[in-house]
Amino acid sequence: MIETIEKRLKELEQRVAAAAGRAGRDPSEITIVGVTKTHPASAARDAARAGLLDLGENYVQEARAKIEAAGQGVRWHLIGPLQTNKAKYAVRLFHLIHTLDRPKLAKELDRRAAKAGVCQKVLIQVNLTGKEQRAGVSPEGLRELAELAASLENIELLGLMTVPPFLPAEEVRPYFAELRRIRDRAASWSIEGTSFRELSMGMTADFEVAIEERATLVRVGTAIFGERSYT
Ligand SMILES: *Cc1c(COP(=O)(O)O)cnc(C)c1O
Repeated sequence: MIETIEKRLKELEQRVAAAAGRAGRDPSEITIVGVTKTHPASAARDAARAGLLDLGENYVQEARAKIEAAGQGVRWHLIGPLQTNKAKYAVRLFHLIHTLDRPKLAKELDRRAAKAGVCQKVLIQVNLTGKEQRAGVSPEGLRELAELAASLENIELLGLMTVPPFLPAEEVRPYFAELRRIRDRAASWSIEGTSFRELSMGMTADFEVAIEERATLVRVGTAIFGERSYT
C-alpha cells in the first residue's frame, strides 16, 4: 500500500540523514535503492509514486513486469548475479548493474550494450568473504577486471559493490571499511575512463553502518516493503 510505503520511506530517509550526519556527510550523497524482490509489481509502482526513483531487483526475469509497472523516470539497478546469456536483456533494462564479477561478463555486456546503442554503467562486485563460492571478484583480481572494464567502449565503471557475510551490523563494519579502503586504492591506480566514486553496500540490517563507512548506494528492501515471503 502506498501510504505504508510513504511512511516507511520517510522514516528511512530520516535514518539515512542521521547516519550521514554522524559521519559528517551530506545525505544527498546517498541514494536509497528500493529492493522489490519477491514483492509484486504494484509495490514497485507504489514506490515510484511515493518518489522512490531508484529500484533494484536480483533477477532479470523477475524485474520485467515491475519495470513496466513502475513506468518512466525510474532507474533500475541489478543487484543479483547476472548470467552471461542474460546480458542482452540486462543492458536494455538496467541503469546500473552492481554485479560485474568476471571478464567474460564484461565483454558480453560491452558487446550487447554496443548493439543496443547504450553505454552500460556497472559496478564491480568484490567478494570479501574469502570464500570462493560467494559471488564477486577477489580483491586480488579487482585490478585486472577494472582495467578490462575501462578498456571496453560501451561499459562505464563507476565503483564497487559488496555483500558481506550474514552477521550482526557491527560485525559487518570491517567489511564495509575494507571495501572503502580497496576503493581508495583502486582510485589511486588512475585507470583512465573509470571512476570509483560509488560504493554500493548496506541493506536493511546494516545500512547505517554502511553509510558511516561511506556507502553512496544502500540497497534496502525489508525496511520499505516489509518482510519477504518466498512461498
Ligand atoms: C535482498 C537484497 C537486498 C535487500 O535486503 P533487505 O535486507 O531486505 O534490505 C540488498 N542487497 C542484495 C544483494 C539483496 O539480495
